Amino acid sequence: MHRPSNRQPPLDAPEMGRKIEPATKDAASLRIGGLTRLTTIDYPGELAAVLFCQGCPWRCRYCHNRDLLDPDADTMMHWREAIQFLTQRRGLLDAVVFSGGEPTAQQALPAAMSEARGLGFKIGLHTSGAYPKRLRRLLPLLDWVGLDIKALSEDYDRITGVDGSGKPAWKSLSLLLESGIALEIRTTVMPDWTPPKVAAIAHALADAGVKDYTLQGCDIHHALHRNLPEIRFPLRKLAGQIETGRFASFSLREV
Ligand code: SF4
Repeated sequence: MHRPSNRQPPLDAPEMGRKIEPATKDAASLRIGGLTRLTTIDYPGELAAVLFCQGCPWRCRYCHNRDLLDPDADTMMHWREAIQFLTQRRGLLDAVVFSGGEPTAQQALPAAMSEARGLGFKIGLHTSGAYPKRLRRLLPLLDWVGLDIKALSEDYDRITGVDGSGKPAWKSLSLLLESGIALEIRTTVMPDWTPPKVAAIAHALADAGVKDYTLQGCDIHHALHRNLPEIRFPLRKLAGQIETGRFASFSLREV
């Protein structure tokens, strides 16, 4: 497993995790690791296609997208093929969701989003919030965001394997809340977490102003790390101490 140094790099520096800068900012250089042609669950209330972007600077212990982590892995689809597909789906799909991996790791993302938006699609983003400065520049292009807040800031490193990774994630949360963009916050529970631990995260999110919150189960059988502990509490019990009334929408997502 990648272990970073103890340096505290500035936000958005390439050394915040693995260095994954692509060569150009053209949409054509977007590295795509997968495509879901139709989904009703990845963008609330809309029919969407999902483009899975290659590369992520973090290595979360429970990640089940191992094939998308390497930015240099073979691309599954060229951008021109993606645009061709989307052009054929105009009038049939409402939205395009950029997921990953971590989409904002690629400099080509704004150009790709602009092209998809130019075809008339709403734009969704699934992100870990690893690059808040890039996220800020994307805001005019976004209609909906699903942001992972993995833990309280001080607990991030143990999950992601990257020192200081909580700071950019919580900064991204602040940016998105200020922007007013439709937003869902998701937390994937670590198998050894307890109800008070989960409640502390949820209440910090409620204090920050989060309205739409989802708690997700952890799929330990497809996790990046094989040595995750056994699950201590079922998801419903883990959520038992959350003051769910502080959210306009609260849901549990089992695996
Ligand atoms: S869970 Fe998300 S942020 Fe973590 S390593 Fe996997 S793709 Fe990256």
